[in-house]
Order: sequence, then C-alpha cells, then structure tokens
Amino acid sequence: MAARHVIVAGAGIAGLTAALALSRVGLRVTVLEQAARLEEAGAGIQLSPNATRVLIDLGLRDLLAPAVTAPHAVRVMAGGSGREIVRIPLADAERRYGAPYWTIHRGDLQAALAAAAKTTIDITLKLGTHLDDFVAHGNGVTVQARVGRQMIDERGVALIGADGIWSHVSAQLKRQNRPRFRHRTAWRALIPAAALPDEFRTPFVHLWLGQDAHLVHYPVKGGRLFNVVAIVNDEWHDEGWSAPGNPDEILRHFARFSWADKARDLIALPEQWTKWALYERDAPFKGGVGPVTLIGDAAHPMLPFLAQGAGMAIEDAAVLASMLAKYIDDPADALRAYEGARRHRTARAQNASAKQAKIYGKTGPEALIRNLVMKAMGGEKLRARYDWLYSWQPPELAASNQRHQLPPD
Ligand SMILES: Cc1cc2nc3c(=O)[nH]c(=O)nc-3n(C[C@H](O)[C@H](O)[C@H](O)COP(=O)(O)OP(=O)(O)OC[C@H]3O[C@@H](n4cnc5c(N)ncnc54)[C@H](O)[C@@H]3O)c2cc1C
Repeated sequence: MAARHVIVAGAGIAGLTAALALSRVGLRVTVLEQAARLEEAGAGIQLSPNATRVLIDLGLRDLLAPAVTAPHAVRVMAGGSGREIVRIPLADAERRYGAPYWTIHRGDLQAALAAAAKTTIDITLKLGTHLDDFVAHGNGVTVQARVGRQMIDERGVALIGADGIWSHVSAQLKRQNRPRFRHRTAWRALIPAAALPDEFRTPFVHLWLGQDAHLVHYPVKGGRLFNVVAIVNDEWHDEGWSAPGNPDEILRHFARFSWADKARDLIALPEQWTKWALYERDAPFKGGVGPVTLIGDAAHPMLPFLAQGAGMAIEDAAVLASMLAKYIDDPADALRAYEGARRHRTARAQNASAKQAKIYGKTGPEALIRNLVMKAMGGEKLRARYDWLYSWQPPELAASNQRHQLPPD
C-alpha cells in the first residue's frame, strides 16, 4: 500500500521538524513554502533540552554540531549597576535533563532541517508555493496553492498548518482570534565575537534586567557571532519579522541615567538592527477541524520571555507524528489527540512567558526586591523552576522505561 500523504504548509522550524518526524513514522510528506528560497532570516534562538531532545532523536546532532553553542550558564545582570545578580547553571543540562541546551542562528537550524528533509525520500519540499485555500472531504483534504501565476492541487489525508503567527490556515479555520499586539518591540542584531569586550565574549547567555527594557545576548554560529536582542516597551506594531531599526532609536531606550555604560556600549556596537513587534494569541489553542490542524506559532505564538517559540514548535512536531502513527487509520482522530495532548502544555508555556515578562518589567523598588530575591534564591533554585519545561519528553519516550529521572538537588 502506498504511504499516506500529509501536506504541511510552511517550511519554518515547525513545518520542517514535522516533515522529518512524520516521514519517520512512515508517512509521505509534501511541504509547501511561500518563500522562493530559505534564506538566512532572523537571528538567534535558544533551544532548551525539551527541544534538543527531539532534534537529536531525529538524527540531527552531527549536522547541527558546528552551528551550536552549549552555554555554561545564564548570567543575569542588573541593567542599572551593570553587576551580575546571579548565574543560572546550564553546563550540566545534558546530565540533568538528558539533552543539551543550545543557542543557534535560526537560519542554521532551518538550513539543517531543510538539508535533512531534502535527503529524505518521503519528503518533497516545494518552495515558492503559497497555500491559498483548502477543502476537507470524506477521505482527507485538497489544498490549492499558487506557484507564481499557476495554481496547483495537492491531496492528502491531513493538512498541517505550520505557517507561522499570521497563519493563513488558522484564518481559514476561523477558530482563533487574530494575534494581539503586546506593546513591545524586539530589536535584534549580530555582533562579531571579536568586537565584544572580554567579559561578554564568553559561552554564556547574558540576560540584563533594567528600566523599561531587557537585553539578551549569546553566541551563535558556533561562537563566531553574538546575537543581541533588546526588548523595549513600544507602540510600533507592523507585522513581520525583519523591519529595519534605527540604531539611534534603540540607544534612546537605554537611557544613560538608568542603564549601565557596559550595556549601553553593547547597544551602540551594531550598525544594523532589525525589529519585530510582539504579538500573542490568548491561550489556549483551540485546535483544528477534521483533517486540518495547526502547529508552532500558527497554533500558539509565544512571547519571547521564556525562549520557547521554537521549542514548543519542535515539541508539537514530535507529538503530532506520534499521534498520527498511533491512529493512522483515522487521521482526524489523530489530530484531535495531538491537540488534546498539547493544549495544557502550550498554554502553560504561554502563561509562564507572560508572567516572566511581568517579572522582567518591574521598575523602581520592585525591581530592587526582584534582584535581591533572585540573588537569595541562587542559580540552582532558579533553574529548578524550569524543570517542568526542560524535562519534557515525546510521548513514546515518556511512556517507555527509559524515562529520564531528574537527579536529586
Ligand atoms: C523570517 C523569519 C524570521 C524570524 N526571526 C526570528 C528571530 O530572530 N528570533 C526569534 O525568536 N524568532 C524568529 N522567528 C520566529 C520563530 O522562527 C518562530 O517563533 C518559531 O521558530 C516557531 O516557528 P514556526 O515554524 O511555527 O513559524 P515560522 O518560523 O514563522 O515559519 C512559518 C513559515 O510558514 C511560511 N508560510 C506562511 N504562510 C504561508 C502560506 N500561506 N503558504 C506557504 N507557506 C507559508 C513562512 O514563509 C515561514 O517559512 C522568525 C520567523 C520568520 C518567518
């Protein structure tokens, strides 16, 4: 019997990971991607052990190795004084959680996933192909897509909308509200390692908490470049991922009277910035209909305060494949089982990210108290608060006897 065919809309992190996971359970997959080329878009992303476990299980460790850094710790810094508040250890992430913590350029992750997809016989990647419409029928779904001026049809047993926060598939399903603007903008830039002061040219994730903004920087491209992301309160709300940002404007958000020179000097380094406005959809993810579902940002966009946008997308892909393998004779049931398995966890991650945003955003005496509490708790205790997130395993692993136990504190 010919392998059942699944259509995936979008070749971002969610779509490509899903294609690889679905092909592993014996499905034939066509990925439709509107972009004509998978260019190096975006900047850094953090991949915590819940995500790297899935990627490693898909056989991608060697392919990713030259592009990743395993940071030793998150160094939390006080934006006002420039002093370290606390270090949250990550060096032993693999021992503790059974999988490493990595930082990587989004383009390198997407390129590795695409390279693996291209060498997988059951995956067809169609670039320059925009999903326009779809219709569900008795035994699956027919998708209509545009390639230039030409229209093409694809038939499959299921359609997976992995088409990002502005998902066309989600809009057609009419089950979710449009994403809501969160009154913040994320600015990103890449800095050559050689341009950084010694203190920051290190394998750490630096997280600065300060007045009206927070700042994160960490190595990408195996340590050759550093990704800097500054998140500021702002009303600019264009859609999209890569609007040009004016360097003078971002520096103004890091005012001299409230930010240490060390942080301002970092912000002053890049000549080029890009920015994107932060949007989110209210939890929980409502799910799809019949043979159609959503994964990644299309289902549950994440605010970046927990660094779980890519992580949740990767988890989705693993759970989706596992449910389609389990209920292969009824894909619609499989999709509802996937949605049921993801609803609570993705809502928890969305809520935790929103809560983290509030903690990062404290000002005046409240910020002082936050810093004192973090210092008093210490890195180990702060890290333990992420155990629920990082120790996650895909269903078949979790069910097996190989369950990874957290070592005692
Ligand atoms: C260009 C770009 C740059 C980004 N940069 C960063 C960054 O620097 N830092 C960060 O934290 N996150 C960034 N992200 C977001 C991050 O990748 C996601 O939050 C996370 O990885 C979840 O990925 P996703 O696959 O669900 O969505 P996305 O990564 O957004 O992927 C969605 C894909 O679907 C495609 N698509 C959309 N509509 C259609 C359609 N109708 N037909 C066919 N294809 C379609 C898009 O072209 C895209 O390739 C970026 C996303 C994009 C698209």
